[in-house]
Amino acid sequence: MSEYILTKDYFIDVIEDLVVLAEEKKEYFIQLDSAIGDGDHGMNLSIGFREVNKNLEDWKSEDINTIFKNAGTALLDKVGGAAGPLYGGFFMKFGLPVKGKDEVTFDEFIAMMESGVAIIEKRGKAVVGDKTMIDTLRPAVDALKKAYEEEGLAPKDAMKKAMEVGAEGSDSTIPIIAKKGRAMRLGERAIGHRDPGSASSAAMLEIFYNCMP
Ligand code: ADP
Ligand code: MG
Repeated sequence: MSEYILTKDYFIDVIEDLVVLAEEKKEYFIQLDSAIGDGDHGMNLSIGFREVNKNLEDWKSEDINTIFKNAGTALLDKVGGAAGPLYGGFFMKFGLPVKGKDEVTFDEFIAMMESGVAIIEKRGKAVVGDKTMIDTLRPAVDALKKAYEEEGLAPKDAMKKAMEVGAEGSDSTIPIIAKKGRAMRLGERAIGHRDPGSASSAAMLEIFYNCMP
């Protein structure tokens, strides 16, 4: 069996789909954030990914790490709030394990996901159960590793598992109070509402899965 490879084209497809997602789900993310935050999550992502889209064509000749570093910088520069620096950090660090490369193995892809999620944890200091994007991302990355490294699932099946676990993680934010972010101030009034960042993260994982060969 030949080795499973993710090319630069895969990652460019992912970014292009993230740009589309930010517009398509803008109102949904605004709605979620209006219930337990300040209502700007959809707008934040839209502004950030429009900026990414403006420059993406110019970045396509760069290696994978540089493309994501540029995208992360655009999000950091253009997006306010909590999600800008957190998602910005994710993309800044995402390509670091594969610096200089134009294609990566699935082991390397897992290392990229871990690197991105780790910086969100480091910056935001959230743990699973705090009602944030980490409720989606941490279990998803752990499931990805377990499925591929321990259970021996094929790469795309492992990513499918990660996506499903991430979606469940987002669902798990509904019945709990928030211990990080704006929704913290609401106390028990946050119960019954999905965390917006957990929803946008789950939607992003879906794209990483859907684009996979
Ligand atoms: P803001 O909360 O500043 O208005 P956004 O609305 O764009 O920014 O993003 C809100 C999302 O950010 C939340 O739904 C949550 O998932 C995520 N978030 C907030 N604080 C943290 C944190 N400390 N760690 C991880 N994620 C966080
Ligand atoms: Mg907000």
